[in-house]
Amino acid sequence: MNKIEHLGIAVKDLEASSTLFEKLLGVAPYKTEEVEAEGVNTSFFNTGNSKIELLEATKADSAIAKFIEKRGEGIHHVAFDVSDIHSEVKRLKSEGFTILNETPRKGADNKWVVFLHPKSTNGVLIELCQEMEKEKH
Ligand code: ZN
Repeated sequence: MNKIEHLGIAVKDLEASSTLFEKLLGVAPYKTEEVEAEGVNTSFFNTGNSKIELLEATKADSAIAKFIEKRGEGIHHVAFDVSDIHSEVKRLKSEGFTILNETPRKGADNKWVVFLHPKSTNGVLIELCQEMEKEKH
C-alpha cells in the first residue's frame, strides 16, 4: 500500500459540510460527484498528500445512511492507494482479511475500489483504491 489516499467522512448534509470543510481546510472541494450504485453524493478536498472525501446518502438504504443511523456522522473509512489492486486483494485474502468485494468496483474520483470488512480490521472499514488508468489485468 502506497499511502493514505483519503479519509471518508459520513455527513448528513453534503452542502453544509462542504462549506464547513472549506472553512476548515482553506480550500474549496475540487470535485463533487454522485456515485449512483453506492447511493452517495461525494465531495473531495485536497489536503497535501491525502484527501478528504465527504459522503452523503442519496437513498435511505445506502451504506452511508445506515452508518449514520447507527453511529452518527464521522469517519467512515480509511482509503489506501495501491498500485495493483488485484494483487493486493490476493495478498490480503491470503493473510486472512475479509474482502467485501473481490471484484473491484467503480468508485468516486476515477478509482477502482475494494472494501475490507471492518470485523477483520479492528472495526475500521478499509478501502483500497487504484487510479483507473493504471489498472492491470
Ligand atoms: Zn472513499
